[in-house]
Order: sequence, then C-alpha cells, then structure tokens
Amino acid sequence: NRSLADYDPAVAEAIGAELHRQQSTLEMIASENFAPLSVLQAQGSVLTNKYAEGYPGRRYYGGCEHVDVLEQLAIDRVKALFGAEFANVQPHSGAQANAAAMAALIKPGDKILGLSLAHGGHLTHGMRINFSGLLYDVAAYEVSEKDYRVDLAEVERLAKEHRPKLVIAGWSAYPRQLDFARFREIADEAGAYLMVDMAHFAGLVATGLHPSPVPHAHVTTTTTHKTLGGPRGGVVLTNDAALAKKVNSAVFPGQQGGPLEHVIAAKAVAFKMAGEPEFAERQQRTLRGAKIIAERLMDGGIDVLTGGTDVHLVLVDLRHSELDGKQAEDRLHEAGITVNRNAVPFDPRPPMVTSGLRIGTPALATRGFGDAEFREAADVIAEALKPGFDAGKLRARVTALAEAFPLYPLLGEAR
Ligand code: PLP
Repeated sequence: NRSLADYDPAVAEAIGAELHRQQSTLEMIASENFAPLSVLQAQGSVLTNKYAEGYPGRRYYGGCEHVDVLEQLAIDRVKALFGAEFANVQPHSGAQANAAAMAALIKPGDKILGLSLAHGGHLTHGMRINFSGLLYDVAAYEVSEKDYRVDLAEVERLAKEHRPKLVIAGWSAYPRQLDFARFREIADEAGAYLMVDMAHFAGLVATGLHPSPVPHAHVTTTTTHKTLGGPRGGVVLTNDAALAKKVNSAVFPGQQGGPLEHVIAAKAVAFKMAGEPEFAERQQRTLRGAKIIAERLMDGGIDVLTGGTDVHLVLVDLRHSELDGKQAEDRLHEAGITVNRNAVPFDPRPPMVTSGLRIGTPALATRGFGDAEFREAADVIAEALKPGFDAGKLRARVTALAEAFPLYPLLGEAR
C-alpha cells in the first residue's frame, strides 16, 4: 500500500506536471472544465474495485448494496435536474451514450440524418469511419452558406428526401441554439425518432439558460464533463418507458460490461452541484464570457462565425487570415492559452490545419473569471492573432490572470 509518489514516481511526476499546466495556463478548450475536488475524490475512490453489472436492485454480482445507493442517487438527481422520467447513468463516455441510444432506437443499415462533422457535428453523428458511419446509412445536413446557421427548412427538405429512421440534433462546434420543437416536427413528419445530443450545452440547459431538448426528443444524450463540469462520462435520458427499457439493455449488456461506479458516484456529486445557485451563476458567467470574447475579437478585426454566440463557445473564422488554425493554436499555446483549432464550414484548408479556432469559457468560469477577466483574456487572444505578436509579454498577462484565480489550491502547487 505504498503511495503513488513512492511506488511510481514516473506516473506521479507526469500527473503533477499536468496539475501545474492546468494551474498556470488558461484553459479555453470549449469541451473541457475543471471537476471540483469532491468529484475527483469520488472518482478516485475504492468504488473502482466493484463489479456491478446490471442496474440498482437487479445486479449480477453480490455486494452491490452501497453502489446501488450511489447509482440510484445519480439517477434520481439527473432526472430532477433535467426534468426527465428515465435516466441511464452508466455510459462510460458521450460516444458510448450515443452508441447505446442509437442501438436502442434503430437497426444497423437504417438511415440517420445528423449535422455534418465538417459543419460542427460530432463524430458519432455519422462520420464515415466512426461506428455511426459504419453501422448506419448516413445523410447529413450542413449549415447555410449565407449565415452559417442550421436552416430548418433544409433539414426538413432532407428529411423528406431521405426518410431517415433517426434525426440527430446537437453539435460539438456551433455557436447558436437549435429549435428542438421544430426538429421534433420534422422527425415526426419523416416517421423518425429524434435524438438530441446536448453534450456541449447540458450545463446551460440544467440552469435554464438554454432551451431544454428533453420534452421534445425521444432520447437525449449528454456528457457529464463539459459545461456540466463533472467527471468524464455519459448519460441517456428519455420520457418514454418503453424506450427507457431499450436504452437500458442497449447500454448493458449491449455496449458495456461492468459500470464504472466510481465515475457514477462522481456523476451524482456533479448533478447535486449543478442544482445549486452557485452553478447557475457560473453558467451565467460562462455565457457572458463567450459574448465578451466574441465582441472584443470582432472589435479587433477578427472574424467570428455567425457574428457572435448564444452559448459557451466562439468560433473564430480565419479563412480570410494569413494565419491558419494550426498557427493560431500554436501562438495561443505559446502565450499560455489552450484552445483547439477547428474546421469552419466550407473550410478551404485541410482538417489537420483548418481555418478556425474553437474558444470556450466553461473552464475559466469555473475558475472564477468574471467580465473583467474575460475582457483581458479576449484582448490577449486578439493580440496573439495579430502580426508581430510578443509571446513573452502575453504570457506574463496570462500568468497574472492564472495567479489571481488559483486552481485546486488544496492539491498544492505542483511542478
Ligand atoms: N457528443 C458531442 C456533441 C460531443 O461534443 C462529444 C465530445 O466531444 C461527444 C458526444 C463524445 O463524448 P466523449 O468524448 O465522452 O466520448
């Protein structure tokens, strides 16, 4: 029973270095967040030892009395948080939640209609070599070339043309809200199920800052680690008892074996936290921060897709810039800001280079950033994207911001 540092210094040191990176830089990857200490503790607990195939009260293993309590807490809390009748909290990730939801709703070979990856959709919404593209017959909708928004008349046209069995709404890189009621009408007209993947904006939905898909979708999926700020994992929600049964058997035994009860306990903690007023206030700062960044970048002459944002992320459009996505990402990295390059719709540059940046505010809002700090972060980003940028000067401004908002103080200062 030796400690990690004592038994395996190589691993301990790399974890320490990662803690230092998180503490000393500004995390602006839109899909990331900082799980609170209570979540880390639940996730790093003895629950990792336990096999619990099955569901609370119906397990294939003995000794499940305590994990039953934890999993039921997670289920009850996430149902209350999103106003859903049924929840499955076992998917190991968002991709597995989507795989299970799709397996519950449709059969291999069936047609699906989702947002194209190149226009902001996720891999699991029908990308060619993802399970979704391999198992299902994929049709995709794109954003409009006019305003870069999802055009529901076009989605409707495609649904009528292709008659999919499943329509997917949701995104990984899109700065606006979707009309879920309209999506449901389109799915109904086509005789299709509607699945909404709210992985990115679930934290906003939980706090009423984004319309909820749960009343409209047959099945709603999410991750628990993006705006929701919990452990890495997935959840499937539905209001339909028959679909809930199918989802449960699609997750286990369909997709997975033993659930990760340590992660499920951490999900329960995160769902409790997401119901608190402090979490709502954090989501408000998240949204305001994204608007501030969009506005200040545009003031600095930088193109922002759709001219702003209604969510927690901003898509910078570098199609008319000499700087490509890779160079822009590298410059920000030198300045101490972590973002990811991202293809923009109709991107002329290749996928490994891209003409876009995806910039998100959830992690910095968790860190405590308010309007003033988001303004400063936006100005550092704008400076970094200009010719003749001074990495050293910008790095000093980033360090000042990071030091003003200490991260994980109880874990100490790692190096
Ligand atoms: N769905 C959406 C919309 C996502 O953006 C992501 C992750 O980026 C996922 C699903 C997959 O989640 P995971 O990475 O946990 O498999």
